[in-house]
Amino acid sequence: MKLVSIVVPVYNEEENIDVFYQEVVKNMEALPYCFEIVFVDDGSKDATPLILERLAGQDQRVRGLVLARNFGHQVALSCGLDNADGDCVITMDGDMQHPPEMLPKLIEKWEQGFEVVQTVRLTTEGVSWLKNFTSSLFYRLMNAMSNVQVQEGGSDFRLLDIKVVDSFRRFRERARFIRGMISAIGYRQIKMEFIAPKRFAGSSKFSIKKMLHFALDGITAYSKMPLRISFYIGLAFAIISFILTIHVLYIKMFTNEAVPGWATITASILLLGGLQLLFIGVIGEYVGRIFEEVKQRPLYLVREELTQHNTKNKK
Ligand code: UDP
Ligand code: MG
Repeated sequence: MKLVSIVVPVYNEEENIDVFYQEVVKNMEALPYCFEIVFVDDGSKDATPLILERLAGQDQRVRGLVLARNFGHQVALSCGLDNADGDCVITMDGDMQHPPEMLPKLIEKWEQGFEVVQTVRLTTEGVSWLKNFTSSLFYRLMNAMSNVQVQEGGSDFRLLDIKVVDSFRRFRERARFIRGMISAIGYRQIKMEFIAPKRFAGSSKFSIKKMLHFALDGITAYSKMPLRISFYIGLAFAIISFILTIHVLYIKMFTNEAVPGWATITASILLLGGLQLLFIGVIGEYVGRIFEEVKQRPLYLVREELTQHNTKNKK
């Protein structure tokens, strides 16, 4: 029988895991497949690892990978993908916003021959207009700036054939925007729409800071546009200042109107100074990212792996 792996990154989800586990088991047991649930505990500070230990102890289909600290959702997801053993891997959130009732539908598409089944969130119940607005702005910006197209509302709820997972495992960059990576990887992809319900319990684990970093990772990983914009604006100013220089020389040599206007000088110094700082910042952002990548540090560190085997031995 084919094995389906379900990879779930969890960060402080103590109130959600049991319900999530029961729903997944209920939906998967109705299907003619073996399955495993690979939870990746992303450095939770609550009882999440204890719950995973209990589940792994009582059900051999459950494994828990406990990361050494919080590495972030995208890295936790990558850790799960690296360690899944299935013929296909489904990644989903552990807060019930990715409905387990969808699992049979994803697998059905896979059986039809699709290698990536990508879900698209139509709406999310109970999300503020600000989050909707900023998220839609981000996707528009991202798609305008890079040659990788990412579907607005694309989520990290998807099924990947083992061939795609193997390819994905060869992408070792640190700044990860998995939606973009999967879109760039190719293979036979299909979209499937869904409505995301509210979180079962708790609140979103994404702070504004985390969202902003995520957005920056997405844009800088796929686009050199910010660097190019600096070049074009620099070029425009170079042309303008060349024309101005001719003008200044003309006034100096052919008229008696020299030494007018400190205003122009101050204004142009301020403007150019500001622009230079701005674009040094843009370059700095990319240099920083090069620095992060060349260190070649491990993407994540697994403190322990919880399986039925090793949780039983402990007792
Ligand atoms: N998550 C994680 N590490 C983090 C933040 C979140 O593993 O640093 C997990 C979280 O437990 C959940 C999933 O990633 O299972 C999605 O997070 P969340 O529901 O907070 O995001 P939202 O649905 O608000 O976009
Ligand atoms: Mg959520």
